[in-house]
Amino acid sequence: MGINMKTIEKSKLGAWYSSEEFEALYTYPEGNLGAEWTRDKTTFRVWAPTAEEVYVNLYSNGLISEKEPIERIAMRPYQNGVWTVIKNGDLHGTFYTYSVLVDGEEQEACDPYAKAVGVNGERAMVVDLSSTDPKGWDMDKSPFQNRNATDAVIYEAHIRDLTVHKESGIKNKGKFLGLTEEETVNGSGDITGLDYIADLGVTHIHLLPFFDYASVDESQEGEYNWGYDPENFFVPEGSYATDPYHGETRIREAKEMIAAFHQKGIGVIMDVVFNHVHNAEKFCFNNIVPGYFSRIDSDGVYSNGSICGNDTASERSMVREYIVQNVLYWAGEYHIDGFRFDLVGLLDIETINEIVERVHVVRPEVLFYGEGWAMPTNVTKAGVKMATQKNSYLTPDFAYFNDTVRNLLRGRNSDTGEKGYVNGGTGRADGLKSNLMGIPYWASSPEQVVNYASCHDDLTLYDKLQAAEPTADRAALLCYNRLAAGIVFAAAGIPFIQAGEELIRRKVNADGTLNSNSYDAGDDINAIAWDCLQSADCREMRDYYKGLIAFRKNHPSLRIGDIREIRDRFTFYDIQKGEAVICLIDCEGIEGESAKHLCMIFNPDAEEKEIFLPEGNWEIHVSGNKAGTEGLGEAHGSVTVSPVNCMFLVKR
Ligand code: CA
Repeated sequence: MGINMKTIEKSKLGAWYSSEEFEALYTYPEGNLGAEWTRDKTTFRVWAPTAEEVYVNLYSNGLISEKEPIERIAMRPYQNGVWTVIKNGDLHGTFYTYSVLVDGEEQEACDPYAKAVGVNGERAMVVDLSSTDPKGWDMDKSPFQNRNATDAVIYEAHIRDLTVHKESGIKNKGKFLGLTEEETVNGSGDITGLDYIADLGVTHIHLLPFFDYASVDESQEGEYNWGYDPENFFVPEGSYATDPYHGETRIREAKEMIAAFHQKGIGVIMDVVFNHVHNAEKFCFNNIVPGYFSRIDSDGVYSNGSICGNDTASERSMVREYIVQNVLYWAGEYHIDGFRFDLVGLLDIETINEIVERVHVVRPEVLFYGEGWAMPTNVTKAGVKMATQKNSYLTPDFAYFNDTVRNLLRGRNSDTGEKGYVNGGTGRADGLKSNLMGIPYWASSPEQVVNYASCHDDLTLYDKLQAAEPTADRAALLCYNRLAAGIVFAAAGIPFIQAGEELIRRKVNADGTLNSNSYDAGDDINAIAWDCLQSADCREMRDYYKGLIAFRKNHPSLRIGDIREIRDRFTFYDIQKGEAVICLIDCEGIEGESAKHLCMIFNPDAEEKEIFLPEGNWEIHVSGNKAGTEGLGEAHGSVTVSPVNCMFLVKR
C-alpha cells in the first residue's frame, strides 16, 4: 500500500477521496475496525489507505504526557486500505495509539474506533467489554417494544443539569450514577431525579451528548458544557464518570444509568453529533487519513455549514460506514433506544436510511429524529440529497423537529418580541389545524414530526413568553405556557419537552438578562433547581404536564400515525370571532380507546368562549389549570372555556 500523496494536489484531495475509483479500492465493509479483544490475543485493525507505514503503540496508561510506549509494533497491510496486527496475551486495560507515516510525515493518533479511552480521550484502551456489564445486563431490554413512534413522550435533559443542584438530594452530582439513584428528594421532600422523571410519565429520556466530547477537562471537577463537540464517538464522556482515567469505569457507569431508566420503564435516547467534530485538524480520523472525514472545498478550506468549523463528509463510503457502525454499536452494546441527530440536514439521506434500516433489523423499536434544517455545505459528490424537512419523504422512518409548530405557538427564536398563537399572535388558526393533524407543510406523516414548544436551544418557553410581553404578569404567562403545552400533547406526532419546561424553568443571567445559549454558562444558569417545587405554581405546572401526558397515553386517538386515518376522523370547527379552534375526533373502533369522541377546544383569545357541544354527555378532563384522566365535571349542550385556555372533553 502507500499512495504517493505528493502526486495529488491538496485542493483535489477531497474529490479524489470521493471518487468511484478510490471507493472501489478502499471501502472496507467488514465492521470490525478497532481493537478486538479476546483473553488470548487482541487484533488491531485500522483503515489507513494513504499510509506508507503504520504502527500500534502500547502504553501502560492514558496520559499523553507519558511518552514512552511499552512497545511499538509494525502493522501489515491487509485489504481495502486496512492495516492489521495481532498481539498475543490479555491486553484488557492496555492503552494504545496508532502512528501513521503519510507522505514521509509521522502522525500519532487515537483509534477512531476506540471503545474505551483514558482521561480526556487522548489514548485508546483495549477493553474486555463483558467486564463492563452491570448485573443483569444480558436481561436488560427496551421498555418500548411493539409501539409506534407516536406513542413516545420525550423528555430532553442534560445529565449534569438533572443531578447537580444542591437541592437534588442526589449523591453522585453531575454523573451517570446520579441518574441511577432512587428515592431522592429535595429539602421539602419532593421526589427528584430518576424517580421524578418516571413519575411524570414520559416514555423516553433524551440526553444531551454523552459520547466523549472535548470541551470539558475531565481531570477537573465542575466544568460545564452541553457537549456538542465530539472527540471519540464510540466512548462515553469521562466527566460523567466517577473515574475518567480507567477506561472501563465510564462504560460501566453509562450502562448502569441506562439500565436504571429501563427498570423504570423509560427508554434512553442519545443525542448524536455526526455533522461536525470538535477540531477537524486534530480529529484522530483526519490524522490517520488526512482530511478524509470532513468536507474540504476546492480551495482547501474546511466547509463550515455547521458553523462549528467543519462538516462531516457522510457521503464518503468510509465516513458513512463509520457513522453506521457507530449507531449500531450504541444500539447494541449500550441498549440505546433512540438517536437524536444534531443538524442532520448536513448528512445525506443514504447514510440516514442505511442507519435506520440496519438498526431496525435488530431493534425495530429504536426511534430516530433530528434537526432537519437546510444548511449550506460543500458536498463532495454529485446528486447527493440531504436529510432535511423538505426531503422528509425520502427518509420515511426518520422524524424531524417541528419548528413550524414551535414558531406558530410562541413566535420565532430569531425574533424575541414575536408572539404566537398562545400569546396574542393572530392569523394562526389554520396553521394550528395542520399541526394538530401532525402535518406541518413540509411533512406527510405524523410519525415523522416531533412537536415541541421549547428545547435546550434558545430561550426557555417561559422566558420566550416573557420576552415577547415584558409587561405581562406571571399568571398571564402561565396561561400561555399551559395552552402551548396543551397543544403539544394534543397534536398528532411525537411530543417533546425540554426538562424543566414543566417546572417553569428559566435561564436568567446574573445581570437579569435572559440566556438564549447556555451551552457553557455553568450550573447556576443550567441546573434544574429542584427547590422550585416548594412553590405552589411550580407544583401546579408539573401536575398539569403530568396530567396532559396521562391523558395522551390514555387516548390512542391522539397517537394515530396514519394521516389518512386522521383525515377521516378529525373535524375542525372555527367560531366566528377570534382565533379559537375546536377539534372533534371520532374515536369509534380505535383499539384501546375508551372514548367514542374527543372534543378539544383551544381558546387563545382574551375573552371566554361559549362553545356548543355535539349532543350527548361529555366529561371534562383538561380545563383551567388542571389536566388528567379523572373527570373534572360533566357538560352537555355547551361549555364555557376561559380566556387563554384549552379544554379537552371525552364522550364515552
Ligand atoms: Ca471528554
